[in-house]
Amino acid sequence: MTVIIEPFRIKSVEPIRLTTREERERILKEAGYNLFRVKSKDILIDFLTDSGTSAMSSKQWAAIMEGDESYAGSPSFFKFEKAVRDITGFEHIIPTHQGRAAERILFSFVGGNGKIIPNNTHFDTTRANVEFTGAEAMDLIAPEAHDLQSQLPFKGNMNLDALENLFREAGPEKIPLVMITVTNNSWGGQPVSMDNIRGAKEVCDKYNTPLFLDACRFAENAYLIKRKDPAYHDVSVRDIAKEMFSHADGCTMSAKKDAFANIGGFLAMNSEDWATKARDLLILTEGFPTYGGLAGRDLAAIAQGLAEVLEEDYLEYRLASTAYLGSHIAKGGVPIVQPVGAHAIYIDARRFLPHIPPLEFPGHALACELYLAGGVRGCEIGSLMFARKDPESGEPLPAENELVRLAIPRRVYTQSHVDYVVEQILDVFRRRESIRGFRIVKQAPFLRHFTAHLEPV
Ligand SMILES: *Cc1c(COP(=O)(O)O)cnc(C)c1O
Repeated sequence: MTVIIEPFRIKSVEPIRLTTREERERILKEAGYNLFRVKSKDILIDFLTDSGTSAMSSKQWAAIMEGDESYAGSPSFFKFEKAVRDITGFEHIIPTHQGRAAERILFSFVGGNGKIIPNNTHFDTTRANVEFTGAEAMDLIAPEAHDLQSQLPFKGNMNLDALENLFREAGPEKIPLVMITVTNNSWGGQPVSMDNIRGAKEVCDKYNTPLFLDACRFAENAYLIKRKDPAYHDVSVRDIAKEMFSHADGCTMSAKKDAFANIGGFLAMNSEDWATKARDLLILTEGFPTYGGLAGRDLAAIAQGLAEVLEEDYLEYRLASTAYLGSHIAKGGVPIVQPVGAHAIYIDARRFLPHIPPLEFPGHALACELYLAGGVRGCEIGSLMFARKDPESGEPLPAENELVRLAIPRRVYTQSHVDYVVEQILDVFRRRESIRGFRIVKQAPFLRHFTAHLEPV
């Protein structure tokens, strides 16, 4: 078989609608040139995120009907707990309404002034939750990752020498936790190798510090390990995932990613002491420990989703459909982050729009133009999301990369949808010189990209 097909058929459909360019110009202006503020009914193909946007399976919908809404001790919780424990092996499984709730709870007692949390690359909510406690969120990406074009297999890896140096220089008492994000969402969705996870665990063990995974895309990472590391070619994805978790002491997870759920997440760990602290905080804002801010039906859908996401024909299709978009635009000359990962294509907006300076947000400008051109919504991951202030002068510093992420919802769009997106991107690429930058009119003190108002320069 050379054609890789969608390993499912479609049982239920949702209509989508194309607007005119004039309509979209008005809509975008009214939204303060912020794609997060555009109504989804005004979008044709929504690649804003793969979070919570998956198509659930008929078995997940059946699980929803069977969900038990008991306040305490619901059987849906025990199904969820078993599904998570079977994969992760962790002792304490704490449901939360999203990944960020797990982060918020964890860093409430782990973070604080003077503390440093290293990560291969913090996701935006993770960084915000670390910084909110007064701790420093430090990205330690492997040096080879800085070359966005190289074809190296594991460009999501953590820089283990830098981790070791950080422990030596700052001292282990300042580093309560090390985190590795799989796959590395903020760095091109690149995978992390098993050797790197194992190596990070060795450094952590030396300094008696727990290692946690930000496990949102653990199945995609496990499948990429299978494909790229010859030592794992013949190992099942489930066993690879289990091994990844076996090197960690806990994890945070957004079930809106690799559990095909529309909402949900969890915090899991082996430490009894930390789990007690986490459950105490959970009750304060999320709910009783057997539902944690979710309905019983959500827990049931997550349990089923976790079984489906490790099916290898699904993962093969997932990878192939993402690569299809990547290779077709790359062939047309569009600069993208290489190699292509599993959940998204990242267009390198700095090279796509070299005439727009970073602090005029080339990624944002490109994302806006893709919407205006074809009703396609992507997401800037660049200086609008990640710019920092120079600690001395207070001047804004651009982010290292200016990317536009086209995140692909799981099991949602067909190949002709993707063909349409390819056509739109290539058309925008041909007239890229006419695209202008943006300036911020209004912004919030953190996670500003969600709500900021902008205007064209
Ligand atoms: C989505 C995501 C989160 C946060 O999860 P939410 O469910 O959106 O709160 C954390 N880390 C990574 C890598 C993510 O992709």
